[in-house]
Amino acid sequence: MIAVREGQEHILAQVAGPVPPEVLAVPRALARVLAAPVQAPLDVPPADNSAVDGYAVGSGDIPSTGTRDLEVVGDLAAGAVFSGALRSGQALRIMTGAPLPAGADTVYPQENVERVGPRVRIASSAKGVNVRLRGEDVEAGGIVIEAGTVLRPQEIGLITSLGLWQVSVHRRPRVALLSTGDEVAEPGTPRKPGQIYDANRFTLRGSIEQAGGQVLDLGVVPDVRETLRAQLLEASAMADFVVTSGGVSVGVYDLVKEVLGEIGTIDFWQVAMQPGRPLAFGRIGQTTFFGLPGNPVASLLAFMLFVRPALYKLAGRRRVHHSTWHARATERLPKKAGRREFKRGVLSYRDGAWEVRSTGPQGSGILSSMVAGNCLIVLEEDRGDVAPGELVLVEPFAEPL
Ligand code: AMP
Ligand code: MG
Repeated sequence: MIAVREGQEHILAQVAGPVPPEVLAVPRALARVLAAPVQAPLDVPPADNSAVDGYAVGSGDIPSTGTRDLEVVGDLAAGAVFSGALRSGQALRIMTGAPLPAGADTVYPQENVERVGPRVRIASSAKGVNVRLRGEDVEAGGIVIEAGTVLRPQEIGLITSLGLWQVSVHRRPRVALLSTGDEVAEPGTPRKPGQIYDANRFTLRGSIEQAGGQVLDLGVVPDVRETLRAQLLEASAMADFVVTSGGVSVGVYDLVKEVLGEIGTIDFWQVAMQPGRPLAFGRIGQTTFFGLPGNPVASLLAFMLFVRPALYKLAGRRRVHHSTWHARATERLPKKAGRREFKRGVLSYRDGAWEVRSTGPQGSGILSSMVAGNCLIVLEEDRGDVAPGELVLVEPFAEPL
């Protein structure tokens, strides 16, 4: 029996990373992992400019009491440049985003001043400034985004604001995925007596894609040694990772162990966790192999705990673990000491604090518990039953990083 943490560390140590980079047009790089830091080739904004529609003036022209009338020498739209410099006694009508003319250091919003024919009257009590300084968002030469960052829409926009149109990102890790079991039927096709429809290949497929991987779907493989062997060899030839579900427990038809013994190397683990004890981890040639348990909750949980961090590392991400925090349990949670237990929970914020309850029945085949839940409740190895009101660790299902 090994601890969850030991298994995770062993796997991360074995996984080489990251996959090589490729250059993409910036808008296509959404959700990819940056392979090289982005350095700013210019200041953003490139010049001091007005934050409002109003009148640009030299602040020395505005008296500390009373009002001052200034001559309006022009009208500057965003995108235009004022060729001269403002002299004392002058103001320039200026639109939001237009560069500040030489001689001006403050802008009075148009709603705070009085326009009188060719002049503008500014009261000392009106609030000035309203200038966005050159380089206040990004300074030329600085690193604006570190390598290993997952590009969200805001990173994409920051990169294009620098005038860049290509970016170096890691290619998506390729993950070959298959379900094992004579009893597993393809959704959308008739089901024979005794069969169940495949859940795992689709929870795993979505999870791999959410984690930035590209799925190569190899379908359902029956519990036939030669077929499994051929499919695993094919899978390993085309992917960085091979992920299977089912066939890793100790039943007569649990063939993964035997077949992997012939075509690769494999560790067979009993992990001290609930749900989902059995886990196979190894190698077929250069490809990393994960054999996840068959029960739907167990396979998805094993993916989150063991495959996802490895996939993140392979993808080049800086952070490989999702955030956790504490919440107060609102009910009693049964817990066996000596293993790490993962309950599906409903986390909510009430009266200024986070609280969590379980989703109800927690069997490892009850996939609807994952649907009802929005987090994992993580109960550490040394812990026994949780009493109502105790703090527990929670890990939200939502997107990370
Ligand atoms: P196994 O580890 O192959 O003995 O599978 C354990 C349990 O998970 C059995 O009840 C299987 O029928 C079920 N199971 C295996 N694969 C899948 C799958 N792809 N979708 C849903 N249930 C599955
Ligand atoms: Mg099976």
